[in-house]
Parts: sequence; structure tokens; C-alpha cells
Amino acid sequence: MSLESKPTPDTPAPLSAEVGKRRRFLQAGAGLLAAGSSLSSSAATAALRRQDIKQWDEETDLLIMGSGIGGIAAAIEARRQGQRALVLEKFHVLGGSSALSGGVCYLGGGTPLQKALGFEDSVEAMRDFMLAASGLHAPKEKIAQYCEGSLALFDWLVDNGVRYAQQFSAEKELSHKAASLYYCGGEKNAPFRTLARPAPRGHVPPAENQTGGRELMRVLTASARQLGAQIRTEVEVRQLVLESDGSVAGLRVSQAGRLRHIRARRGVVLAAGGFIHNDEMLALFAPELNRCRPRWGHAGHQGIGILMGMAAGGRTLRMDHGFAVLPLYPPESVLKGVVVNEKGQRCIAEDSYYGVIGHEMLYRQAGRGSLIVDADCDYPGTDYRVVVQARDASLSGLARQLNLPEGMLEQTVAYYNSHASHGRDPLFGKQAEYLAPLLKPPFTAYDLSPEKAFYATQTFGGLDTTVDGEVINAWGEAIPGLYAAGRCSAGLPVAPYYASGLSIGDGCFFGRRAATHAARRKV
Ligand SMILES: Cc1cc2nc3c(=O)[nH]c(=O)nc-3n(C[C@H](O)[C@H](O)[C@H](O)COP(=O)(O)OP(=O)(O)OC[C@H]3O[C@@H](n4cnc5c(N)ncnc54)[C@H](O)[C@@H]3O)c2cc1C
Repeated sequence: MSLESKPTPDTPAPLSAEVGKRRRFLQAGAGLLAAGSSLSSSAATAALRRQDIKQWDEETDLLIMGSGIGGIAAAIEARRQGQRALVLEKFHVLGGSSALSGGVCYLGGGTPLQKALGFEDSVEAMRDFMLAASGLHAPKEKIAQYCEGSLALFDWLVDNGVRYAQQFSAEKELSHKAASLYYCGGEKNAPFRTLARPAPRGHVPPAENQTGGRELMRVLTASARQLGAQIRTEVEVRQLVLESDGSVAGLRVSQAGRLRHIRARRGVVLAAGGFIHNDEMLALFAPELNRCRPRWGHAGHQGIGILMGMAAGGRTLRMDHGFAVLPLYPPESVLKGVVVNEKGQRCIAEDSYYGVIGHEMLYRQAGRGSLIVDADCDYPGTDYRVVVQARDASLSGLARQLNLPEGMLEQTVAYYNSHASHGRDPLFGKQAEYLAPLLKPPFTAYDLSPEKAFYATQTFGGLDTTVDGEVINAWGEAIPGLYAAGRCSAGLPVAPYYASGLSIGDGCFFGRRAATHAARRKV
């Protein structure tokens, strides 16, 4: 494992110490300006100068902002490396979004659970799928490291008390409370199934109603405490304190109505989540996500950690990315229908992962389109996620109600039916089990616009980091002592979001690496 910041292929060679120092100093100001010129919340996150801090109230080795997966993973690892670790959580409840989540972690390469349940997998298959599904935005080096470290991450979770049941579920969305392994992404979808051997990689502690995150975070937080990490609630991190060379000295926090300054000898990990609840940042960086409801994230996702990193000169990546999950399934029967755009043309394989469907509709179809089903594959009753747009005894009647171009929907369905009746989908390669001709009236259209349908959304953009979690500045250099993990950073998740478990997996993996790097850093 590399302990030095690795320049990426796009990163220029390191500068001389003096030039580097000057740049870091300048960039801190530039970061402030960039953020401050457009965001009211950024003024409060401006970095402080070490020389302006009269005295430290406290000292530790690794200071961690946020008690979600990124923060707790860093705390555990810091303790395992013999470092003092202090986690600061703004709210009175620990765990952030991670504790609210399904707790799915994307793991593969032949984990003991995959093997025990009879599934073959390899690091290469996992990597090829992740690279292909991430498209042009693939964080290649991070994907490579993550896949190579996936077995070790599984062992690490188990060593820290996470328990997985030896039960597989074949459902596309896990509702089986006793199962711990399922296909949590688009591995079996075209074209990925031909590019990489599919394997189920969704690892989740058994839990009812998709509440595995609560159990995951309960166990990991207990492990962090047992190892000696200090974890404090109701402490709000406000600002970074920087040395004159731009390196990180500590944090200013607000605790019980008093401002305190805590020195971090080895570094600070920003693990405060994304910015889905910051209206200004959403409007500025990710206006499409701003159209979606519900905003899926803990109340702490205000972007403060990202703004603090920017104020220290950190650059950001993929700020417009996020997930727009449009969960048409379960029931999987509705996937036999067709998803059409506002012209009445089919635009996606309906069996795609629901993050991919949401992305297609929101970004590529401008949020306009419908799910068309017949009586055989309709929802069994009223569903909270989608609303009926139109219902009719004939397809042409339905098309008229939807104001579609004359004859288009009829043509779309006729073409689909002619192949579906033979178990084929030449247009998008939908799997045979989700193919059936749409013949039985009434035909129903469900509105897939973000104004009407359930589009769970969260941001993915954040601080650019090395594979060791170090925050990178505008010149491609790591800022000494500054780390980011989880949704504060731009990590594995990119848009379209192609598998559950990437965010928890990313936070856990790179939170650990940040702590390892900090522990070995020369100070
Ligand atoms: C319902 C739901 C289900 C999901 N299911 C999954 C899933 O199964 N698998 C998956 O991979 N992803 C899932 N996600 C997404 C995933 O939960 C998050 O992306 C991930 O947990 C983010 O981790 P984090 O450590 O970055 O942030 P969090 O876990 O949110 O932790 C950040 C913490 O920082 C704290 N904080 C913020 N500001 C401050 C401050 N100024 N001072 C101190 N503390 C601060 C917050 O209060 C919060 O506790 C789900 C999300 C939701 C909402």
C-alpha cells in the first residue's frame, strides 16, 4: 500500500518546496473566493490561521468530522494503527445516513459468503463491471484498489463484528429479512453481462425492512469504542485551522455553546456527508437533483465538510453527480412493461438497476416519460411511488390521453410485442424473464416525471482525493494532513448509480485508508 500521495496521470510533477508552499497559501484564498463568491454558507467555513489561535483546548492524533461510515471506519483504523482518534458528531444521534441506510456493502472477488453460497467471482470480473458501468467518469485507480482490497474489506467488517447470514435472495430488491447476499446492481443487464461474469455482490447484515445500516453502524461504532476511539455527540465542526504552509493543524468546533480549538497531530478527516440538504449548493452544482424528492440523506448533509475542504484549497469533482433512484420494482412483474419518453419511444431496458432508470429519465429524457403496463403486469394496487397518468381500454386511446405523436406508442408496443413473445429484446437486451407482450387491457401509463414519481436522491460530488483519502488541491498536490471520506469526497459512486452498496463500501474502504496514511505520515 502506498503511503505517499500518488499523483494521478493528470497530475503534474511535484513542485519545489517553496513554490508548493506559496501555491498552497494562495490556493487557500482562492478556494475561499470561489466558494464565498456564490454561497452564503461558505463564509462560515473559511479556514483559520494557526497563528490566530491563542491556544489549543485539546489535542489528538486523528480528528474526524462525522460519525457515519467514513468517520467510524477511519476511527477504527486509527486505533488499530495505535493512534488516538476523536470523532465529532454534530447531532445527538450517531451514524448519519449510514445508519439510516440499507447497510448494503458492494463486495466481491470471491468473498467467503459468495463462496459459501456457491457463487464464483473474481477481482477482475468485479473490476471490469465497475469500470464499464462507471463509463467515462470511472475513477479507475480507486476502482482497481477497491476491487483488490475487497476480500480484505470483508474480513475487516467481520473482524469488527459484522455478521452475514448464509442466505441468498434472488430478488432484485432485497426484502428477505434473513438474506445477506443478492444481485444489488446491474451485473446481469446488457451490456454488462457480456463484458464481465455476473456475481451477486450486495452484502448486507440480515435485517427487516432494509434497515441493515442500523445494525452495521451499531456494530462498527461499538467496535470503534471498544478499541478506544473517543466519540462525542453534539459537537459541531465549524472550520479548519491551517498552518502557514497550508497544512492542516486542527479544527474549530462548537461544543455546548462554546468555541473550542482541537489540534490534530496527524490529520483531519472530513466525513460529514454530501450536500443534498443545502439548497444553494444544489441549485449551483446539481440543479437536476434539485428537482427530485425525497432527498435521501441525513439532515447533516449540508455540504459543510466539502466547503471546509474547498476553503483549504481542495478541488472538487463530479459535483453535478448523484443518484436519482426511481424504484419501479418491486414488484418485478411491472418490468415487463415498457418505459417510454415523451415521444412514446422506448428509451431503456426496464430491468435496469433503478438508479440507472432514474438517471435516464431525469438527465437524458428531461424528466418526461411514462411506464406503460397492461393488466397482466400492472401494480396490484395503488402504489406510493408512481401515480397513474392515464388508463384506457386501447393503446391508441392511451396515446391520445398522453398527447403522444400519432401512432408512435402503438408502433413502439407492436415492435416490443413481436420480439417479447419470442423472449427477445433486440433494442435493449432486457432479460427474458422480464419480457412479455403487452396485450391485455386496460393499459395504464404511470407518470415518471420527478414532480410526480418517487425519485430518491443524494449527491455524489465532493472533494477530490488520492487513493489514500488525501484531499487534492487545484495543482494536483495533496494538502498535508487533510483527508476526506464518504460523500464529502468524490469516490466510487458516479452517475448513473449502477449498484447499491457502492457508497457504504467506498466510505468504509477509503476512510480506513485515510487513517492508515495519516498514521504513517511524517509530522
Ligand atoms: C434510506 C437510505 C438507504 C441507503 N442505502 C444504502 C445502502 O444500502 N448502501 C449504500 O452503499 N448506500 C446507501 N445509502 C447511501 C449511504 O447511506 C450514504 O451515501 C453513506 O452512508 C454516506 O456516508 P458518510 O459517512 O459520507 O455520511 P453519513 O453517514 O451521513 O455521516 C456523516 C455524519 O457527519 C455529521 N456531520 C455533518 N456536519 C457536521 C458538522 N459540522 N460537525 C460534526 N458532524 C457533522 C452528520 O450529522 C452525519 O452523522 C442509503 C441512503 C439512504 C438515505
